[in-house]
Amino acid sequence: MNTIAIIGGGAAGLMAALSAARAGADVTIYEHNASVGKKILASGNGRCNIINTSACSDDYAGANPQFAQYALEQLPYAAFETFCHSIGLLLDSKEDGRCYPLSNEAKAVLIAFKSAVTEAGVKVLTEKKVTALFKEKGRFVVQSDQEKKSYDKVLIATGSEAAPQLGASADGYHFAKSFGHDIIPTYPSLVQLQLNSKIHSKMAGVKTHAEVTLYVNNKPKEKVRGDILFASYGISGLAILDISQKASYALMKKQRVEIGINLLPRFDAQTLSATMEKLFSSVPNHSIEAVLSTLIPAKTIVHLLEETAIKPMTAVSRLLPKEIKKLTCLIQDWRFEVTDTHGFKHAEVSGGGVATAQINDKTMESKLVKGLYFAGEVLDVVGRRGGYNFNFAWASGMIAGKEMGK
Ligand SMILES: Cc1cc2nc3c(=O)[nH]c(=O)nc-3n(C[C@H](O)[C@H](O)[C@H](O)COP(=O)(O)OP(=O)(O)OC[C@H]3O[C@@H](n4cnc5c(N)ncnc54)[C@H](O)[C@@H]3O)c2cc1C
Repeated sequence: MNTIAIIGGGAAGLMAALSAARAGADVTIYEHNASVGKKILASGNGRCNIINTSACSDDYAGANPQFAQYALEQLPYAAFETFCHSIGLLLDSKEDGRCYPLSNEAKAVLIAFKSAVTEAGVKVLTEKKVTALFKEKGRFVVQSDQEKKSYDKVLIATGSEAAPQLGASADGYHFAKSFGHDIIPTYPSLVQLQLNSKIHSKMAGVKTHAEVTLYVNNKPKEKVRGDILFASYGISGLAILDISQKASYALMKKQRVEIGINLLPRFDAQTLSATMEKLFSSVPNHSIEAVLSTLIPAKTIVHLLEETAIKPMTAVSRLLPKEIKKLTCLIQDWRFEVTDTHGFKHAEVSGGGVATAQINDKTMESKLVKGLYFAGEVLDVVGRRGGYNFNFAWASGMIAGKEMGK
């Protein structure tokens, strides 16, 4: 019987184990946490955004995002839904393509996978950290603690370094390297950003809807709308997570990174000026601080005024046209320099990883070492927010499992 070791009991490892076992293989999962699937439980704020119904390679970054396309095509939403039914999991897909377990609880996903792998006869070894992987007499030797066991085939599904508190490790990269694979430099993604400013910490706790433009070396790279939240270290919120992949990649490349915040994205520049003018003429004796408080979060006003050198108590009728212009410009493009991300500890995923040029996208087998497979986030494929990262983990895990089970 075909013997298979799967290193890592996350999304990719569980899916691969199930697919290989269903194909008749003898499968063992090595997981160093006390339980498999810790990230599944923590995902989507406890809801698990399990897949995106419209995922395609455009939703991913890496040296060759196109690598993900074949795997994604093998697991379209309808096929994933049928698969989920086969493990007793019902899904709820939203209009925007995001999909969750019907119960709205991530634990439903883990319970279904755990029951299914047990039923399929997969051996799940928890609290078993794989410390070395090598080939001896044509077979793969998996070393965990003091034990060694040999297998016909091995899948490296150890994920990335993101969220080490959930068991993430860089071990997969070390194993891959030891077999001659290249590692594309890794960087945190879907992560908060640290800012170089004296005021962000004073605005900590301010949450608002904004449009955020990412500038790399002074050129606009990406524009998104969503919530932002100032914090003691810098800035977070969904809009920030959405631009973080490109920001983090640019920081890794030592490029100059800035964000421009538009606090009133519902108005274009002209409408904002007209609205302000109208407001100013209806309450000419009110202070600029009071008038602005009807438009933007109170905690931001004093800092905006400081940057434009306008005194908060100035009556709006006394403002000079150039002061008004400066203020409206700043409200719609408030620049902050980004110095760093908030790090792997706070990141949901990692960019970079095992170079996909050395992996067969139709099988997930290494092009360098026969019988060695890779799946999930350990590869140089990183998705957007919205279920795309699990999507690739399930799809690549399924392909690897089926192939290994042959
Ligand atoms: C807080 C949070 C929320 C997220 N929410 C979402 C979401 O809603 N939707 C989405 O699509 N993505 C989400 N993600 C990303 C998603 O969780 C990952 O992309 C996905 O889990 C990757 O699957 P994987 O199997 O490749 O890696 P992992 O799930 O990380 O699995 C790897 C496993 O390998 C184990 N391991 C590592 N080294 C060793 C070793 N030496 N020996 C034995 N075991 C080892 C780890 O403990 C882990 O269990 C979220 C991530 C985080 C951190």
